[in-house]
Amino acid sequence: MVDWKAIEEKWQRRWAEAGAFETDPDPEKPKFYLTVAYPYPNSPQHIGHGRTYTLTDVHARWKRMQGYNVLLPMAWHYTGTPLFAMVERLKERDPEFLDTFLNLYNIPEEKLTELMDPISMAEYFAAEIKHGMQRIGYSIDWRREFTTVDPIYSKFIEWQFEKLRKKGYITQGSHPVGWCPSCGNPVGQHDTVGDKEPEIEEFTVIKFRKGDMMFPAGTLRPETVFGVTNMWINPDATYVEARVDGETWVISAEAADKLELLEREVERISEFQGSKFIGVTITNPVTGDEFPMLPASFVDPKAVTGVVMSVPAHAPFDLVALDQLKREAKKNPDAYRFKPSDIKDLEPISVIEIDGYGAVPARDVVDHMGITDQQDPKLEKATKEVYSAEFHGGRMRNNTGQYASLPVQTAKKAVKEDIVAKGHATTMYEMLEPVQCRCGSEVVVKIFENQWFINYGDPAWKRLAHENIDEMTIIPFELRQEFHNVVDWLREKACARKAGLGTKLPWSPDWIIEALSDSVIYMAYYTVIKGINEVKPEPEHLTEEFWDYVFLGKGDAESVAESTGFPAEKLMEIHKEFSYFYPLDARHSGRDLISNHLTYMVFCHDGIWPRELWPRGIVVNGSVLMEGGKMSKSLNNIIPLINAIDGFGADPLRLSLMITAEPLKDADFSPDLAKNMGDNLERFHKRAMDVVEQGRGSPENLRDIDRWMLSRLQSYIAEADEALKELKVRKTIHAAMYNLNQDMDWYQKRVARQMDTPERAEAIRYVEWRTLDTQVRMMTPFTPHLCEEIWEKMGGDGFIAFAEWPRVDESYVSQESEVLEGMIRTSMEDVQKITRVTGISPEKIHFYTADGWKWKIYLKALDLARRGQLEVGTLIREAFKDDEMKARSKVVPGYARQIVEDVIRLPDAEVELRLEMGQLNEVNVLTDAVSFIEGEHGCDVAVSAESDPWTEDPAKRAHRAKPYRPAIYVQ
Ligand SMILES: [Zn+2]
Repeated sequence: MVDWKAIEEKWQRRWAEAGAFETDPDPEKPKFYLTVAYPYPNSPQHIGHGRTYTLTDVHARWKRMQGYNVLLPMAWHYTGTPLFAMVERLKERDPEFLDTFLNLYNIPEEKLTELMDPISMAEYFAAEIKHGMQRIGYSIDWRREFTTVDPIYSKFIEWQFEKLRKKGYITQGSHPVGWCPSCGNPVGQHDTVGDKEPEIEEFTVIKFRKGDMMFPAGTLRPETVFGVTNMWINPDATYVEARVDGETWVISAEAADKLELLEREVERISEFQGSKFIGVTITNPVTGDEFPMLPASFVDPKAVTGVVMSVPAHAPFDLVALDQLKREAKKNPDAYRFKPSDIKDLEPISVIEIDGYGAVPARDVVDHMGITDQQDPKLEKATKEVYSAEFHGGRMRNNTGQYASLPVQTAKKAVKEDIVAKGHATTMYEMLEPVQCRCGSEVVVKIFENQWFINYGDPAWKRLAHENIDEMTIIPFELRQEFHNVVDWLREKACARKAGLGTKLPWSPDWIIEALSDSVIYMAYYTVIKGINEVKPEPEHLTEEFWDYVFLGKGDAESVAESTGFPAEKLMEIHKEFSYFYPLDARHSGRDLISNHLTYMVFCHDGIWPRELWPRGIVVNGSVLMEGGKMSKSLNNIIPLINAIDGFGADPLRLSLMITAEPLKDADFSPDLAKNMGDNLERFHKRAMDVVEQGRGSPENLRDIDRWMLSRLQSYIAEADEALKELKVRKTIHAAMYNLNQDMDWYQKRVARQMDTPERAEAIRYVEWRTLDTQVRMMTPFTPHLCEEIWEKMGGDGFIAFAEWPRVDESYVSQESEVLEGMIRTSMEDVQKITRVTGISPEKIHFYTADGWKWKIYLKALDLARRGQLEVGTLIREAFKDDEMKARSKVVPGYARQIVEDVIRLPDAEVELRLEMGQLNEVNVLTDAVSFIEGEHGCDVAVSAESDPWTEDPAKRAHRAKPYRPAIYVQ
């Protein structure tokens, strides 16, 4: 049994004592610099965090074994307000909160008072997370650790903002931001439940009217205004009549509140239920059409204005609600303020045509999904389908006036601009999807006056970002376009707040720079902070000039030293260290950060540094599920990382996080999986110890079977290399562990009876040692502790963490031996099938190999296949050109037919290979395996060619022999 805890502690201690992962510049070696998001320390790490960090560590360890001088640092992100909110809840002794702290995080009760200020709480969790990262064996250089509230870090962030401001990338103005009305703060992704990015959309609000009274309806599809058949209002919701910028509007009470935050002048006049307006006649300001206001329960008073225009031809919600209302009004005519006959004739008006759909696209989709009720959750999906199909492939019909035949994409913009210009519509910012602040309140849009922004909308800056993205390595490869799209749609991003921890804006110190803006270029800071700490400077001496020198090489060290008091020699050293490690080679992060952090990082680097220092790579990760479901506190299925390490061991945990990690898919963790990985590693360890005990052997008397194993080994090295190019770790582990072990099992079975011969034993030991040596190297990035342990027992040099990553040894690539062994394996399987089907326990097994004439025809068939001319007729004609075949004219055609069927299934490469190998001496190949087959089945085995005079063929099977498929008789 492996004592996981003992080997983890042993190797973690040795790595630390040797400073193994403390990386300094080494001009002799190429460098590889990678980082992963510094954690926000407001909770312990749990298994869900393990994937991204473990993959980063695997990446670092793999590169190190390829000979790179690898730097992987770590720090702590304290910036923002969530820690304040947590301290408040702790002080209030919120019961749910206390339960999490005491029972999930296992924090001792007496410790709680210490945590009652934001910094102490952050420090507590930072220490906890660091402990976990050390215990899972991440190869981090801890000498570069810092927090984002360190005074020196603030000087660095001030420099970042001065640089951006001088380039014109900082703007100030009134812009819409996601806003929490209870917290009184702008809200970013880090502040929301589920880390959802608050996305703001500009809706078109069309002013439908009844005389002077307006019923403004919000829409993202202004081009469908030509197809409106009626209006919707929620009969049970509260609405207000209000003066809005001098007009009389009927809108939901919530909409009135939101309009105030959007800096509209709002004066409420009266309040009533939505039902009040049901049945009144409304006019479409664009077409002049008249239609009724009708009730619908799907209308959400919180969404835009709470009044909805109904376009049943193109909006599944509208279509289903209208159908439903017609049915109900017919059944119960007295329940409504309108007569069923008033709505009987309301039919969808189609204004968009689209290939593959009928006149009413919403009807096709709704019928297909079987939706009949406006509360059916499938309506969201139906809406998306129609919207997307029409947006990408729709054209405006002739009933849309000047817009007829325009593509929907074009018409959407044109209609919006035109009707706003004519005063028939206005616009309103609204959350694209509902988002909740961590305090529990719904996030709304607020126009923020004099807010500071980083202007990611700057077209020239966008061009740089596009260029950077084109040049960098993005893993998985298919995500490049997603980054380009984000660059295109990014606009001004609010970068400062009035509250929270962080750095003050240098030119306006009542603002604090927020968390997604002070975390975009800190990768550079890791490369200099170690050197700065050695000098212990006064933070205020670290002026713009200082950072300009160390990061941009501006000015000369002597004069910077003079003005900052920082030793010139040290300045040069720090600048050199930055220049050695920069640019950043890989940034690891979760997929949810493409739309903000990762792209901001690209922008800010490109805005500050010259092209040769732009980031070179991004690796994007999926997340982790627990037994197929989401991990969440409410589901009570969060396992803190430390508990998981205690329970399963660091290496089994690492392996289970990686074995399920397909790029962009969620990894599915379960305790059973971790246990299973532990068992696999135990077996790996046991075999390794057996091999170590037997020694290294010698390669002098290698046979085909040995060459087969060594050749398989080379193919797994090649497979792992190919997979790791895109960090496909699951594939790598399959090659390095499962598949290799299976082949090793087979090999050991095949050679088990040869160990009595000393020279065979030596050759076998050689193969086993060499396989282990390769396998332990390939597994090191995934299970470093166990591999160090095995490496030490093998007498390896230094840490295996720095051993060379295996390379394919071409001299051991032998497709021929793989083909021959393949034949033996198939023959064995055939025997097993026979014994299984017949239930015979064999007394003797006969193998009959194909005669020479069969080989001649077989090779002809391969040759025809290579030339793409393989046909039964052709093959038979070719065969009969040979006089020898004429004597066999009765059997040749039938045989040729069988051969064509076999050969047609072979892959091209296999055809080539078999042609090259020509006729095999199958008798020899099988005879080599006789003792193995005898041992497996406990009976005699006879091998002969089908027409050898001594062949025993009591059941008349021998004539069935084909090349690569000996005939078999089990007696
Ligand atoms: Zn809030």
